[in-house]
Amino acid sequence: MEKPEQVPKWENLSRDILGIIFGKLEMMDVTMGASRVCTSWFLAAQNGTLWNTVNLVVSHEHSFFYNPRVNNTKELVVGIRMSERHYTINITCMYLLPYAPHYRQIKQGQNNLGNLLIEITKLSCTAPRNLFFNFYSYIQDKELVLAAERMPNVEKLVLPMWSSLSENSFRFAFSQWKNLRTLVIVKNPLNTGTLELQAVGENCTNLTNLKFVGLLDEHLADQIVLHLQVLKRLSLRCSFLYEQGLSRLVNGLKNLEILNLSHSLVVSLFPHLHFRMVNKIEDTLSMVSQKIHKLITCPRFFDCGICADWLHSAWSCWKICKYFELFWQKDEIEEFNF
Ligand SMILES: [Zn+2]
Repeated sequence: MEKPEQVPKWENLSRDILGIIFGKLEMMDVTMGASRVCTSWFLAAQNGTLWNTVNLVVSHEHSFFYNPRVNNTKELVVGIRMSERHYTINITCMYLLPYAPHYRQIKQGQNNLGNLLIEITKLSCTAPRNLFFNFYSYIQDKELVLAAERMPNVEKLVLPMWSSLSENSFRFAFSQWKNLRTLVIVKNPLNTGTLELQAVGENCTNLTNLKFVGLLDEHLADQIVLHLQVLKRLSLRCSFLYEQGLSRLVNGLKNLEILNLSHSLVVSLFPHLHFRMVNKIEDTLSMVSQKIHKLITCPRFFDCGICADWLHSAWSCWKICKYFELFWQKDEIEEFNF
């Protein structure tokens, strides 16, 4: 009598082969699916080559991320007044009202970002070199600390737009990320979290690449100059700039080689609040181009459709956020693409 043919079992498949197959899957499918099938697959999912990059940008499960800790819009206004400085308050308050209904709506989401980071790092261990948050991730102190503790070898970090981070958590996290070379920060007008650049500068001595998307005023420019002297590449793509802030930045950063000002707008407060395309500040731009090796501006510098569209459109906070998101992942400086 013939013996029944032996059927190989999935769990006995070589871990190297499983690792190659898992490498073809989305990170979330490995984390929440394949790694949970059996012990053998769990061990295969710990293959370090799968985890060079933890990319949360591709996840569309926004319910994982939305959960601003603000109870009502009144509290939100107070938060902004406490954290923002001088005249920027006026601008943030102006954008607040049209955005408030959406803000309340996303508050309903469940915050599972911490759980997701735990699940990922059970598999990745300390392998990740790149950590990219989803643009709409809402990161709080405990999640930032968790990410830094469990992924201390990160060299390229993209932080999300939303945060309400304390100085302590910011300090702790960046004390772990000593190998950081590239940092991308988005700061929207309603972001009440801290931006503790001193902690970044003191710990991340190899941080030569910074991309900032948001409002660059004189105070922020001074902070960057004071704490991030090692910067060689700086992108302010699609940001709002005070002309004085830009001048101080370029004059102060002695090692800066490349500056990207593509699709950024210049903010003026006097005699009234208005915005201009970057090409209107010719004297400052001339100074900038003399100070640094390479200045990048819009592809059609004197007639950029993107800038013109942005300049003449009706603004709201939500529109600003969408604008930031639209151009967030792309940059003319290679190091900032993700
Ligand atoms: Zn442009």
